[in-house]
Amino acid sequence: MNEEVRAIRGVRDILPEESLKWRIVEDAARELFVRYGFGEIRLPLMEELSLFRRSVGNFTDIVQKEMYVFQDKKGRTLSLRPEATASVVRAFIEHRLFLTRKVTRLYYVGPMFRYDRPQKGRYRQFYQIGVELFGGKSPRYDAEIIMLAYEIFSAIGMPPVQVALNSVGCSLCKTSFAVELKSFLHSRRTNFCPDCLQRMNQNILRVLDCKVPSCRQELRDAPLFSAFLCDSCASHHAEVVKQLSKLNIPFYEDSSLVRGLDYYTKTVFEFLAQDDPNALCGGGRYDNLVANLGGPETSAIGFAIGMDRVCAALPDPSLEPSPVRIIFLGENACNAGCDLVVRLRKEGVNLVVDYDAESLKNSLKSASRESVGLVVIIGENELSSQSATVRNMTAGTQEQVAFTVLSHYLKEHLACIGRTHAEN
Ligand code: AMP
Repeated sequence: MNEEVRAIRGVRDILPEESLKWRIVEDAARELFVRYGFGEIRLPLMEELSLFRRSVGNFTDIVQKEMYVFQDKKGRTLSLRPEATASVVRAFIEHRLFLTRKVTRLYYVGPMFRYDRPQKGRYRQFYQIGVELFGGKSPRYDAEIIMLAYEIFSAIGMPPVQVALNSVGCSLCKTSFAVELKSFLHSRRTNFCPDCLQRMNQNILRVLDCKVPSCRQELRDAPLFSAFLCDSCASHHAEVVKQLSKLNIPFYEDSSLVRGLDYYTKTVFEFLAQDDPNALCGGGRYDNLVANLGGPETSAIGFAIGMDRVCAALPDPSLEPSPVRIIFLGENACNAGCDLVVRLRKEGVNLVVDYDAESLKNSLKSASRESVGLVVIIGENELSSQSATVRNMTAGTQEQVAFTVLSHYLKEHLACIGRTHAEN
């Protein structure tokens, strides 16, 4: 036998039963995005590497360790996108969207790529649903964006989620915080990993993202952003807190939350399920990114929900009933029944045909094994009476149904089987 082909490490297939769950989440999110005034943007999967260096940050783990980087045939250095905010900002600037609306609201759905160590809830190709809102300064936008994510989790019936909230301030706050952090880290530098020692020289704030347990232990005594917020950032944060309380969103302040991307300013947040340290959703404000990438000064805020983790935490939905299966007995019935198949599908019946049926017994056996609810049998007798034999596989009953009313009959009975599925 030839060697079996397999998917590469860290990527996977989402098979139809699981896909159903994904579609439920996507549909719920899309409906809410429209309700909140967001329009869909479809983005390229590849960008120039420099886009991510300039946005996510050159010294972040994502850019340093997790990028899929390659040269195209013209020698351009490209990267598969590790996240979508940078691309949305690039598109916002490139298409001059700031000229058309005071506030621009965009959402996206799609795969991201990070060369991370694959484990439960962590893949090399994973999927995000996210939003970006440009041109909104008020802290009420922060609360509204968090509310939108919260509503998505409620709509899909997620087990309770909590919002962890923090502020990482503006460039001024970050500068004064970095001075204090530097003196703290330097006094203990021998206790940190080699990567952290490098981060201390390159971008000291990224030390706070280190996942090495001994570094995490040391960081427990590190200074906190909250003590370094300027008046304006502190009052912005206080207003976000006030608005979230007003909206009854369960949140807690986590002053160690920094998120591993350079572009965040002021509000940062994560959604977490109980007893799981892996965030289901992450987001925040990034008021400097549009200008840093060559656009006009523009406030912005967004979030990304990790589809893989959310779908893994959701209970299995009731399966959609299988399509009706048609078994033709003989070549003659098959030829004569072609038009009927076309007509039934046009009239809205989901159906498949067993063109390779060798015997009725075997075809019924495989239909039963595959949990098909309704089987339509058409042979010489059915052709001459112009009525099909319809077998209800669950009840084990059979009926003759005239071709003229067959589509109505099948749709009604399929819906009935669907309801029974859902109740079970
Ligand atoms: P981030 O883009 O890092 O802010 O992440 C936003 C969300 O994407 C996270 O809360 C996760 O749910 C999800 N996510 C990030 N990285 C991965 C990954 N490697 N595998 C699966 N989900 C991920």
